[in-house]
Amino acid sequence: MSDETTLHPEARELYALVEELYPICRSITGNGVRDTLVILGRYAPLQRHEVPSGTPVLDWIVPNEWNIRDAYIADVHGRKLVDFQQHNLHVLNYSVPIRRRVARDELMQHLFSLPDQPTLIPYRTSYYAENWGFCVSHDQRQTLNDPEYEVCIDSTLEPGYLSYAEAVLPGETSDEILISAHVCHPSLADDNNSGLAIAALLARTFAARATRRHTLRFVFAPGTIGAITWLARNQENAQRIRHGLTLTCLGDANPFTYKKTVFGDQEIDRVVQHVLAHSGYPHQIIDYFPYGYDERQYNSPGFRLPVGSLMRGRHGLFPQYHTSADNLQLVTPENLYASLRVLMNVIETLDRNGSYQNLQPFGEPQLGKRGLYQALGGTNIADLQLALLWVLNLSDGRHSLLDIAERSRMPFSTIRTAADMLAEHGLLRSNV
Ligand code: ZN
Repeated sequence: MSDETTLHPEARELYALVEELYPICRSITGNGVRDTLVILGRYAPLQRHEVPSGTPVLDWIVPNEWNIRDAYIADVHGRKLVDFQQHNLHVLNYSVPIRRRVARDELMQHLFSLPDQPTLIPYRTSYYAENWGFCVSHDQRQTLNDPEYEVCIDSTLEPGYLSYAEAVLPGETSDEILISAHVCHPSLADDNNSGLAIAALLARTFAARATRRHTLRFVFAPGTIGAITWLARNQENAQRIRHGLTLTCLGDANPFTYKKTVFGDQEIDRVVQHVLAHSGYPHQIIDYFPYGYDERQYNSPGFRLPVGSLMRGRHGLFPQYHTSADNLQLVTPENLYASLRVLMNVIETLDRNGSYQNLQPFGEPQLGKRGLYQALGGTNIADLQLALLWVLNLSDGRHSLLDIAERSRMPFSTIRTAADMLAEHGLLRSNV
């Protein structure tokens, strides 16, 4: 248990938001998504979009809207054995309605369980093939030995809408940084209530700042079909996206994993690696592969948007993934907050990167007579002095501050501080 008194207020806030989102039964459409977007809208200026079922979106069609009120398996005496009200993972997500008595053999064909993790409820969906079903622990499945059961799924699957929302924070330029998080999973705390909570607090933080160079766009959409719907409706505007990230599984205790863009060498790839390298947190960098979350859609050949993915636990590779063990014990305030700080740093680095021209390029300028040695207050005098020399040396119009940070192996923030000081003293001019 963490010591409440030492937690940063935003760590507490992130965890409280995950707690609030966790019980809601979300899917790729329906009221669970809308309720979630209303909650996220308290943090960021969200605009909600409702796209009718049947709308063609790229190679897909917006499906019918799914809503659910109740679901259970009961014995023939009416005693509920599996109850959606106890855990929303118990129902196969997108189940069509059913209310009748079934033989045990038929029921077994509609049950999903995990023999290797017999105490956990799996998360299963059937969005594009009509089916009904229940997800139970394997231990519980073994107890279902009656000849007949009553099954009830009180759901609707009818023409309606697909809901998504976005917050756009205008910058000085129309160049965009995209942050995208999937909003379709039911009670799974890490995947992806963590990503939703962190994206919401990032949006709030940057919305409160007076200026920024990039326009920031936060997209909260159901996985796959939501990103495809967004791309279909923004085919032109999407080309303004210069850097992007999908966020998922950011509250667990695993080391950070950054999955690169399909290009592998974009500014976002370099910035995330730089920030993680200087963060002190354990991390790994992995190459792009066409499986995972919505980076698949953004990196597809027609769009080729430079969108990487930041996560801690890697989807499919940690034991709690897509099970009832992805719960409020798996995520912690500290891990959520550390992820938020890394992402703040990534966005600030992207936004403040740029190249400069040394205005006294013949020999080293005399820093002492300009008061630049006296200006070096604080405890990291030696670092900042070295950073001044690096910035002066490489500000030939061909190197960005990120290039200088990488080459000097110094944190971007130190290089940036040095550039600001040199510019204030008339030794540097921005090339932008
Ligand atoms: Zn997932």
